[in-house]
Amino acid sequence: MAMEEILSDAALDGPLHAALTQLDDAAKLIGLDDAIHHKLRKPKRVMMVSIPTAMDDGSTQVFTGYRAQHSMERGPCKGGIRYHPDVTIEEVIALAMWMTWKCAVVNIPYGGAKGGVVCNPKEMSVGELERMTRRFTTELVEVIGPEKDIPAPDVYTDAQTMAWIMDTYSMQKGYSVPAVVTGKPIALGGSLGREAATGRGCVFCIREAMRRLEIPMDGAKFAVQGFGNVGAWAARLLEPLGPKMMAASDSRGGVYNPDGIPVLDLVKHKEETGRVGGFPGADDISNEELLELECDVLIPAALENAIHEGNAGNIKATMVAEGANGPTTPDAQDILNDNGVFVIPDILANSGGVTVSYFEWVQGLQAYFWTEDEVNERLERIMVRAFDEVYAESQKRSVDMRAAAMAVAVGRVAEAQAMRGIYP
Ligand code: GLU
Repeated sequence: MAMEEILSDAALDGPLHAALTQLDDAAKLIGLDDAIHHKLRKPKRVMMVSIPTAMDDGSTQVFTGYRAQHSMERGPCKGGIRYHPDVTIEEVIALAMWMTWKCAVVNIPYGGAKGGVVCNPKEMSVGELERMTRRFTTELVEVIGPEKDIPAPDVYTDAQTMAWIMDTYSMQKGYSVPAVVTGKPIALGGSLGREAATGRGCVFCIREAMRRLEIPMDGAKFAVQGFGNVGAWAARLLEPLGPKMMAASDSRGGVYNPDGIPVLDLVKHKEETGRVGGFPGADDISNEELLELECDVLIPAALENAIHEGNAGNIKATMVAEGANGPTTPDAQDILNDNGVFVIPDILANSGGVTVSYFEWVQGLQAYFWTEDEVNERLERIMVRAFDEVYAESQKRSVDMRAAAMAVAVGRVAEAQAMRGIYP
C-alpha cells in the first residue's frame, strides 16, 4: 500500500488522524515551512514483516509485525514495541510520530520510532512469546541498533522482552550489544529507576501543574484508567504527596471508593488475582464511569482514544495527565478546552520513560552506571524544565498545553531539519 493511501485511509479517525491533526495545527501556529511540514507528515521508513512462530501445540502461526521510524533529524530513532491484537500500521506510524515530539519536548537527542506485533500476548505461553520476539528481532536486525533505532517496552512488553531482543541482536552480531534496547533487566545493563520512570515523570508534571493551578495536594483525589506499569507507578508515587486514589481500572473494569483506595494494597491484589476488579472494600465501576468521575486529577494510562467526542463533555476532572499515548482525540481536546479542563499532554506527561531510556543508553555506551538517586534527580530536572518551557509557551501564545508542547517540539525538529537540509 502506498504511503499516501495509508495516510489518507487514516484521514477520518484513529490515532494517525489525531497525530496528523496535531501536527497540522502546530504547523499553523508556528508558521512552519511547507517543505518541512510535508516531510514531517510522513514517516521516514516503515518495515512490515511476517513472523512465523512455532506454537506449543506444534502448529506454526505467522504474526505480522511493524517498525515505523518517523524521524532521525535529532538523533537515532527511539520508541517502544507493543504486543496487542489491535496493532495496525497506522497506529504504529502515529505512535512513532508522537515519539519524535516526545523526545524533542524533553530535548533528548533522538528521533521517533515505534513497533508493534499483532498478537494476543495474554493467550500466549512464555515460550511462544520468546520465539515470536526472537524472530521479530531477526527480521529487524538491519534497521535497529544503538546508533540507528533503539526499541523499548510498551503495551504488554517488558524487561524480559527486551532481554530476548538484546540477546538475539547480540547473537547475530557476534558480540554483546546492550545499548540496542532500553528497559532491559538491571542484570543486563538496565538503568535503575527505568521501570518507574514513566509514572514518576507523570507525577512530576502533575505536581508542577497543581502548583500552577493552586490545587492543594492534601485532600486531592485522583483516578487512574489503566493500572499497568505507567498507571500503577504514577499512583504509587502520587499518593505519598497527599492525594488519594478514588478509582482505578484495567481492561476488564475498575474499582471505586470515594474515601480512597490504598495504592499498594491494590498493586498486591492485582499481582495476586491478575486484575483490579474484586478489590475488597471498593465498588466495581466500568472504565467509562471512571473517566467521568468528579476528581482533581484523571490519569488515562491505557490506550488511544479513551477520551473522545462522545464522553469529553462528561469529564469532570480539573486536570487530565496523559500517561498513555494519544488518549484524547482532537475533538475531545476542543471540548475539554471549552470546559476549562487542564490537559498535560502525552508527549510531556509520559516522557519520563523515554528520558530514563536515554539515561540507560548513555550509561550503557559508557559502561558506567549511576545510582537510582542520580537517575531520579536528573529525571526531575529534565521534567521540571520541560514542564516550565511548555507552560511558558502556552502563556506566551495563549494556547492549551498540547498546542504549546507541539509548538516547542515541532519547532526543535524543524530547526534541526532546516540546519541539515534535504539530502542530496
Ligand atoms: N514506550 C514508551 C513510550 O511510549 C517508552 C519508549 C522508550 O523508552 O523508548 O514513551
